[in-house]
Amino acid sequence: MAAALPSPRFDEFYRYDALTELLFAYAEARPNLVSVRSIGKSHEGRDIWVLVLTNTATGADVDKPAFWLDGNIHAAELSASTACLFYLNDLLNKYGLEPQVTQLLDTRVIYMVPRLNPDGAELALADRPRHIRSSTRRYPYDEEPVDGLNIEDVDGDGRILTMRVPDPHGGYKKHAGDPRLMVAREPGEFGGEYYRLIPEGFIKHHDGLTVTINPDREGLDLNRNFRTPGWDHDAPLHWQRRAHKDPRRWPGPSSLSEPETRFLNSQIESFKPQLVVSIHAPYGLLDFDGPMAPPRQLGALRLEQVGVFPGSLGYFGGLKKGLPVVTIELPNALRMPKEGEQRDMWADLLRWMDAHLLTDVREAHEKPEPGKLSVH
Ligand SMILES: [Zn+2]
Repeated sequence: MAAALPSPRFDEFYRYDALTELLFAYAEARPNLVSVRSIGKSHEGRDIWVLVLTNTATGADVDKPAFWLDGNIHAAELSASTACLFYLNDLLNKYGLEPQVTQLLDTRVIYMVPRLNPDGAELALADRPRHIRSSTRRYPYDEEPVDGLNIEDVDGDGRILTMRVPDPHGGYKKHAGDPRLMVAREPGEFGGEYYRLIPEGFIKHHDGLTVTINPDREGLDLNRNFRTPGWDHDAPLHWQRRAHKDPRRWPGPSSLSEPETRFLNSQIESFKPQLVVSIHAPYGLLDFDGPMAPPRQLGALRLEQVGVFPGSLGYFGGLKKGLPVVTIELPNALRMPKEGEQRDMWADLLRWMDAHLLTDVREAHEKPEPGKLSVH
């Protein structure tokens, strides 16, 4: 009788230590199907965990066609790492019971990195959280801003909300039925009590009038830091012209300048996955880059190809390496889709994989001996 699998909650987010414990608990419960390795250390020195999911009795992971899955490269997209955990949990519970899942882990390997950016996620989960976009490295400016508003959890309630400041010229007023709500002031409306809205934070050197909001000092977007063709020229140019110098989307000083992107790059080079799936939020769609016909939908998520950016994983994998890269954009960064929706999403992905990747699998690899397949 196999050991009991962990039964984590999928409606809350795990901080780094608890997540680490959970991943190792899965490996301990199913050592024949799961192992945990570190692919390297993050900017702040946390191990980035990869789960190797395959039935070791039917062959080593390196001998099987691989499917790469990662989540949470962007700091505050916490639902992405939980979606990975949900899938992990579902696969291990169904292994040996559902032939499709059993076949998947018997004949293929899934390399799963639930939290590619543990530093950024930890900051989003801190007692006084901050929601930066990506890496916690201070880039390109290391110095404290001299004045202006720094977005922060002022009252320490674990949330960053919006502050209202009375201002006769303000654009908002209290809702007539619920004064906790702010609604927009009508055009041409005068004589009431009006407010300005600013994000929760501390203002340095306030002159009594203007409030400028300081951008996060952690401005480097890991998903613009992959080595794509012409990066040195295109990535900074794209940032200037197309991203309008967005202070949250700097591509970095050079491609693969960051440990997180370097590790992912070397893993993809060495494992040669047939498919890369990367989970994000909150756009609620499905994106695809690569050489074959994309899935039209995964569960409730519909295909909407948004194009590629210099330095993005989609460009790197899909166009440079010729790999299919599926980008799942969950509808909410801090709330999970319903369980049924998640199951539909993964079931559709599996169907698409079977239709598009199976031929290569059969040609490239011997089928495991029937006696070793444990469908029961
Ligand atoms: Zn993202």
